[in-house]
Amino acid sequence: MKNPVRRMISIRAYAKINLGLFIKERRSDGFHEIETILLPIKLYDKINIEKSLKGTIIECSDPSVPVHNKNLTYIAFQKLRERYPSKIKEGIKIYIEKNIPVGAGLGGGSSDAAAVLLGVRNLWNVGVSDKILKMIASQLGSDVPFFIGCKPALAKGRGEILKEIDYNIKRWILLIYPDLNISTSWAYKNFNFILTNRVKNINLEYLIKKNFLKFRNLIFNDLEIPVFSKYPQLREIKENLYKSGAEFALMSGSGSCLYGLFKDKNRAEKALKKFKKFGNVYLTRQVLTQKIFE
Ligand code: ATP
Repeated sequence: MKNPVRRMISIRAYAKINLGLFIKERRSDGFHEIETILLPIKLYDKINIEKSLKGTIIECSDPSVPVHNKNLTYIAFQKLRERYPSKIKEGIKIYIEKNIPVGAGLGGGSSDAAAVLLGVRNLWNVGVSDKILKMIASQLGSDVPFFIGCKPALAKGRGEILKEIDYNIKRWILLIYPDLNISTSWAYKNFNFILTNRVKNINLEYLIKKNFLKFRNLIFNDLEIPVFSKYPQLREIKENLYKSGAEFALMSGSGSCLYGLFKDKNRAEKALKKFKKFGNVYLTRQVLTQKIFE
């Protein structure tokens, strides 16, 4: 029997953490060159999309997330439809069940946008390659192309030049979200290259593959400088992560989320209880299979 034509699809939009984030020179287009390692983690938004005859409708479980044309998923759909008008004739209804904290440096909005690109390709049978999809994704935001492949990657340029790497961190990842929404552009604007006194020219991929524990003092997130200076409570959380037995702790992206890496699950669970007073806490792992469709 032939499969019935699908009108609805459910997709997982995974979050990421940054293992290190080095900011380099400012480019003529105003963006900074960066170098970071992006790691997909098992915390995800669930996105339902269906064809609609009533235009584009976006709903989100979190009322703080903008809907309509300010939502990145809306722009993602428009871009794909403009490029493939003969394939995508209807409108879309998108429902976002938000689990990834917003403005946390975990790439939630970018991941939602990538999930919609993947979902629309599938639902409408668009026949667009990953390569072209990543190119469209890069017009939506620096982190969006990463979420098309959703595999550990070394990211350069604005973050959109990706080299996938074979990597399994094998650690429990404890995330602490201190209920602060930090704007990425604010963090970059307040970053001052002169204040970084870290060792320059570090090979991040080499470091994390060796034994990142030995390199606590080499793997930095340069955006911690402006962010910790405005929100000193975040530095305190990082210090507490180390006191609780984390092997490594860092802010993700432009914050406000901090993460600690734990080898031992019991220890991570103990820390999780302790950190509840600082905000929302999540214990998670790296994504190893690329299951995105439910
Ligand atoms: P960045 O990709 O800038 O590092 P982030 O991970 O720190 O982002 P997001 O959760 O992506 O933060 O939210 C950043 C802003 O993007 C939000 O304040 C919100 O206004 C806007 N936004 C647009 N679409 C979405 C979406 N689908 N989910 C969450 N935020 C969105």
